[in-house]
Amino acid sequence: MTTHKLMLLPGDGIGPEIMAEVTKVIAWTERAFDVTFDVSSGLVGGCAYDAEGVPLSDETLAAAKACDAIIMGAVGGPKWDGVDYDKRPEAGLLRLRKELDAFANLRPAICFDALADASSLKREFVAGLDLLFVRELSSGVYFGEPRGIETLDDGSRVGINTQRYTEAEIERIAHVGFQMAQKRGGRVASAEKSNVMEAGLLWREVVTEVHQDHYSDVELTHILADNCAMQLVKNPKQFDVILTDNLFGDLLSDEAAMLTGSLGMLPSASLGNGEMPGLYEPVHGSAPDIAGEGIANPIAAILSFAMALRYSLNMGGAATAVEAAVDRVLADNVRTSDIWAEGTMRVTTSQMGDAILKKLDDN
Ligand code: NAD
Repeated sequence: MTTHKLMLLPGDGIGPEIMAEVTKVIAWTERAFDVTFDVSSGLVGGCAYDAEGVPLSDETLAAAKACDAIIMGAVGGPKWDGVDYDKRPEAGLLRLRKELDAFANLRPAICFDALADASSLKREFVAGLDLLFVRELSSGVYFGEPRGIETLDDGSRVGINTQRYTEAEIERIAHVGFQMAQKRGGRVASAEKSNVMEAGLLWREVVTEVHQDHYSDVELTHILADNCAMQLVKNPKQFDVILTDNLFGDLLSDEAAMLTGSLGMLPSASLGNGEMPGLYEPVHGSAPDIAGEGIANPIAAILSFAMALRYSLNMGGAATAVEAAVDRVLADNVRTSDIWAEGTMRVTTSQMGDAILKKLDDN
């Protein structure tokens, strides 16, 4: 029997509440498949700062690195607003991503049929939407040097950030994009601004080379990032995989996410070169406004675990079963408050977890 090591980092706010529902699905996976999970948990974020004086201790980091996959809840909250930047809850998360060398951020934008009416677009544009962003996460304008705010000779100030990508950085994220497309619809749209940025021109050239050399089975198109933003609201279902850099990926994936309805539904994965575990977490934050009320939507966290099954644990069948169970629960009109609508049944966090589990058990 295979044993996988899992690290759970529930974090702050609603993190522990949604992670409790993930553990139910972990237990189901053990029952349904020939697998055991060696599960440990640790502190990250504000709770780690309170208990250990830092938002991510060296011990927790070492334990996390020794696992096959890390499932995180969320970090942060107003309680830690006055804490120094390097000890803030978010600093723990950034350290984790950096130490894992997680350069590939995967963000699916899936619109479950039952939630299509919650989108800001008309149902026919979003029902059945299933696209995947592959966003470069560890380079580009958020990290490029020089950066800063300087004072010019005339006393006025200038703000500087640098868009910088090496060929190697573009190559490795391009490989991820094409390999994801091979597992999905076989199409990649690579988004950049090669018309006005040299970094975008290099991006286009390198992506084209990687495609020509390795992925003739995948269809590649290039799209300017501003046009991509328009196409996402005009006809989002035209896309399969969108491959893009850190800055454009940040903006475009948020735009696409909102087409699908609620923040409480959106999972993500951050992957490195395969030597480190993948980091799986909901897109949403710690939702301090509802923490402790037992009403948070656990679906983003549960779907993040499904991504871990698929991308780190080679259990694509189990991942598909979890996603299908979520789909069927929504089709039964079971809803947490954030996705509730007239005529549907409002449930708590744990009732939603139980409803998903029941569908899995009935399978
Ligand atoms: P948020 O995502 O926590 O909440 C935004 C809104 O969405 C809130 O009204 C919240 O109640 C709701 N919401 C979010 N997730 C939900 C869920 N699962 N179920 C039901 N409703 C949900 O964003 P915010 O309010 O801007 O940030 C709160 C804290 O979270 C801040 O400290 C921020 O820094 C942190 N944050 C952390 C992460 C992370 O850990 N990856 C990401 C974003 C924000």
